[in-house]
Amino acid sequence: MNYQVDLNGFYGNYGGAYVPEVLQANIKVLQEQYLALMQEPDFKLQLAQLLSDYVGRPTPLYFAKNLSQKYQTKVYLKREDLCHTGAHKINNTIGQALLAKRLGKKKIVAETGAGQHGVATATVCALLGMECIIYMGALDMERQAPNVARMKMLGAEVRAAQSGAKTLKEAVDEALMHWIGNPDDTFYIIGSVVGPHPYPDMVARFQSVISEEIRKQLLLVEGRSNPDYIIACVGGGSNATGAFYHFFEEESVRLIVAEGGGKGIESGQTAATSFVGQLGVLHGSKTLFMQDNDGNPLEAYSISAGLDYPGFGPLYAHLKEYNRVDFIAVEDDYAMKAGLALCRTEGIIPAMESAHALAVLDLMTFKPDDVVVINLSGRGDKDLDNYSAYFNM
Ligand SMILES: *Cc1c(COP(=O)(O)O)cnc(C)c1O
Repeated sequence: MNYQVDLNGFYGNYGGAYVPEVLQANIKVLQEQYLALMQEPDFKLQLAQLLSDYVGRPTPLYFAKNLSQKYQTKVYLKREDLCHTGAHKINNTIGQALLAKRLGKKKIVAETGAGQHGVATATVCALLGMECIIYMGALDMERQAPNVARMKMLGAEVRAAQSGAKTLKEAVDEALMHWIGNPDDTFYIIGSVVGPHPYPDMVARFQSVISEEIRKQLLLVEGRSNPDYIIACVGGGSNATGAFYHFFEEESVRLIVAEGGGKGIESGQTAATSFVGQLGVLHGSKTLFMQDNDGNPLEAYSISAGLDYPGFGPLYAHLKEYNRVDFIAVEDDYAMKAGLALCRTEGIIPAMESAHALAVLDLMTFKPDDVVVINLSGRGDKDLDNYSAYFNM
């Protein structure tokens, strides 16, 4: 079985690059050059240095003793929450911004839903001296005011997308329109393993540092580099892909995906793409996503803003077809309970997205000798208002 993208940008039946005519030249340059640029010794050195000194990598693989006792198995947490800016997203934005520089681009455009990708993008633009424009739905700007303030502090221009539902979809549309209008000097930084080829593969490679580290760290503490399970949440799929990347071919490693179940897969208020998604083209690639009878994307729902994306990257459609990963729809209440439990057992406040992965401990059974790695994609500071409201604290 093959889990790598082919020359045309497909994972089996999914992927590709469905972009408007005006962007085809830009995408083609990127398709032709990204692998070579990423292999350049200079590029690798600069990226490695920033990941270590600026992001704070390697992030710890923490043996969670109290959680392990509670669930009678060996639980390790991969601490992406300790990355600069509080989540894994910066692993990717640093990589793409360095690539953009090598391609001679001076300006960056990106879209953001909850604001996390916008903050990670604004951060690297400040660091590398690039102009940064972030599109965000007007409604999301109200709901995520602290992240808007962060982006502005970092020098980014935040533009409100005013059309339609004023959330992520409209922000994507307007960021794309911006890129269409400025194809020469602007680079579009995408925040997950979604979009036209080569973005899914490029983002996967930048995030793969997570599993590269897990292998080394586990070998040191367990005497073997393969765990029995890796669990990660999926919005678009970037933190999961990073955590799974070097284990796809290792069939003894079971890969578990926690999707945003919302209020239940039957409720109509869900983000569990693997259960309710259908084939189509979303944001430039062929994948599964939630759609109406005319094939238009539906609004996804999850209590966690990072998971309420109506689809997932093409790799996940492929992994589903070949049953390489197990999908679990984690409903809001389970995630919130698991988030609070981590606070109380280990003294770590997780992002609500990551709490979906933690909830799998309650939903599956593990053996005492199993080594279970959970990718803790981000920290929960951004979610405190939501946690407090939910628990009436
Ligand atoms: C954005 C985000 C996610 C979801 O995105 P993926 O691309 O699926 O990783 C998960 N966790 C956190 C903390 C995030 O910020």
